[in-house]
Amino acid sequence: MSEKKECENIRKSLIYKTAVEYGDYTLNHVTGCSHGCKYPCYAYMMAKRFKKVSSYEEWLQPKLVDNIFPLLSKELPKYREKIKTLHLCFSTDPYMYGHPEICRASTQIIEKANVFGVHCSVLTKGILPIELANMPLENEYGITVVTLDENFRMEMEPGAAPMEERIRALEALSEQGCYTWISIEPYPTPNIHEQNLDQLLERVSFANRIIFGRLHYNKQVTAYKGYQDFYNTCAKKVIAFCDEHEIDYHIKKGTLVE
Ligand code: SF4
Repeated sequence: MSEKKECENIRKSLIYKTAVEYGDYTLNHVTGCSHGCKYPCYAYMMAKRFKKVSSYEEWLQPKLVDNIFPLLSKELPKYREKIKTLHLCFSTDPYMYGHPEICRASTQIIEKANVFGVHCSVLTKGILPIELANMPLENEYGITVVTLDENFRMEMEPGAAPMEERIRALEALSEQGCYTWISIEPYPTPNIHEQNLDQLLERVSFANRIIFGRLHYNKQVTAYKGYQDFYNTCAKKVIAFCDEHEIDYHIKKGTLVE
């Protein structure tokens, strides 16, 4: 295979249907993710299992799909009537920290989808640009916030944006009237990291919606005696906080179990 061929990242299709709750359709226009989350990252585990990447080091070197816009020009007219919400992204991060080319492509994708009348939902551990306030449709902009402790953030999400910077960018969009949301998932048990959920909720109380979910695929969680009680208590706290502050909420499956 030539060197050029090895570097190519050509896909046959981009938009696909999903059963996950953020959107009924999704697209992942990048292979890999330099955020390198250690929770672990489900997308990395799947990419490794299906031989899309051979190692964690390769996963950390993101590759934009080369034919994003030709594919979108074919697929958006085809799916526009069917899509309620197009989610970016399940298997990578659309606003990858330190990758302006990926961020630019994501904003262009959202704009193009909106021009076709397709509403988008976005979730990132990067910095959402303020231009998103000027998109043709009202999209839903979200960030993941599982801690306010920058040391724990660096341990678990080593390549992602610093937490306060991430929150401030979302807050700026909220101040511009955008619909904003927070994903508090995967939330750690106290044996992994002891922290104050009330403080975290207060910091993100500007958001329109909060999603709360437990940590999966990590043996330290099940090693924590009473982990289900812990998650039940946290989930109830999130519900009470959201009710009090008139914030929409969603508790992920398997988090509140009684
Ligand atoms: S940001 Fe998402 S896709 Fe990227 S490494 Fe972290 S969990 Fe995986």
